[in-house]
Amino acid sequence: MYVAAKVDENKCNGCKLCIWSCPDPNVIILHPNKKVSINQSRCKGCGLCVIACKREALSIDS
Ligand code: SF4
Ligand code: SF4
Repeated sequence: MYVAAKVDENKCNGCKLCIWSCPDPNVIILHPNKKVSINQSRCKGCGLCVIACKREALSIDS
Protein backbone atom coordinates (compact mmCIF):
# COMPACT_ATOMS: atom_id res chain seq x y z
CA MET A 1 0.00 0.00 0.00
CA TYR A 2 1.28 3.50 -0.84
CA VAL A 3 1.86 5.62 2.27
CA ALA A 4 3.16 9.20 2.45
CA ALA A 5 3.02 12.16 4.80
CA LYS A 6 0.78 15.13 4.06
CA VAL A 7 0.79 18.73 5.32
CA ASP A 8 -1.99 20.89 6.72
CA GLU A 9 -0.75 24.27 5.48
CA ASN A 10 -3.05 26.12 7.87
CA LYS A 11 -1.05 24.72 10.81
CA CYS A 12 2.48 24.82 9.37
CA ASN A 13 4.67 27.79 10.39
CA GLY A 14 7.82 26.75 8.56
CA CYS A 15 9.81 25.87 11.69
CA LYS A 16 11.77 23.14 9.83
CA LEU A 17 11.61 20.57 12.64
CA CYS A 18 10.16 18.08 10.18
CA ILE A 19 12.92 18.72 7.65
CA TRP A 20 15.58 18.03 10.29
CA SER A 21 13.79 14.86 11.37
CA CYS A 22 13.43 13.34 7.91
CA PRO A 23 16.08 10.74 6.96
CA ASP A 24 16.04 12.02 3.37
CA PRO A 25 16.94 15.73 2.98
CA ASN A 26 15.13 15.95 -0.34
CA VAL A 27 11.65 14.88 0.72
CA ILE A 28 10.31 17.89 2.65
CA ILE A 29 10.64 21.21 0.89
CA LEU A 30 10.27 24.62 2.57
CA HIS A 31 8.71 27.23 0.29
CA PRO A 32 9.13 31.03 0.40
CA ASN A 33 5.68 31.35 1.96
CA LYS A 34 6.99 29.45 5.06
CA LYS A 35 4.97 26.33 4.31
CA VAL A 36 6.39 22.91 3.61
CA SER A 37 5.36 20.34 1.07
CA ILE A 38 6.17 16.65 0.85
CA ASN A 39 7.67 15.05 -2.22
CA GLN A 40 5.17 12.21 -2.26
CA SER A 41 7.20 10.00 -4.57
CA ARG A 42 10.21 10.02 -2.20
CA CYS A 43 8.47 9.89 1.21
CA LYS A 44 8.84 6.49 2.89
CA GLY A 45 5.98 7.04 5.31
CA CYS A 46 8.22 6.46 8.33
CA GLY A 47 6.31 8.98 10.46
CA LEU A 48 9.34 10.70 12.02
CA CYS A 49 8.21 14.09 10.75
CA VAL A 50 4.74 13.59 12.24
CA ILE A 51 6.34 13.03 15.65
CA ALA A 52 8.69 16.01 15.23
CA CYS A 53 6.04 18.58 14.31
CA LYS A 54 4.83 20.48 17.37
CA ARG A 55 1.86 21.97 15.53
CA GLU A 56 0.25 18.70 14.42
CA ALA A 57 0.52 19.88 10.83
CA LEU A 58 1.65 16.52 9.47
CA SER A 59 -0.16 13.22 9.15
CA ILE A 60 0.33 9.96 7.35
CA ASP A 61 -2.02 9.08 4.52
CA SER A 62 -2.70 5.39 4.15
S1 SF4 B 1 7.51 20.74 11.78
FE1 SF4 B 1 5.34 21.18 11.36
S2 SF4 B 1 5.14 23.40 11.60
FE2 SF4 B 1 7.34 22.94 11.42
S3 SF4 B 1 7.78 23.19 9.21
FE3 SF4 B 1 7.29 21.03 9.56
S4 SF4 B 1 5.06 20.84 9.16
FE4 SF4 B 1 5.54 23.01 9.42
S1 SF4 C 1 7.20 10.23 6.75
FE1 SF4 C 1 9.42 9.92 6.99
S2 SF4 C 1 10.23 9.96 4.87
FE2 SF4 C 1 8.18 10.87 4.80
S3 SF4 C 1 8.52 13.08 5.00
FE3 SF4 C 1 8.13 12.25 7.07
S4 SF4 C 1 10.15 11.82 7.95
FE4 SF4 C 1 10.40 12.04 5.71
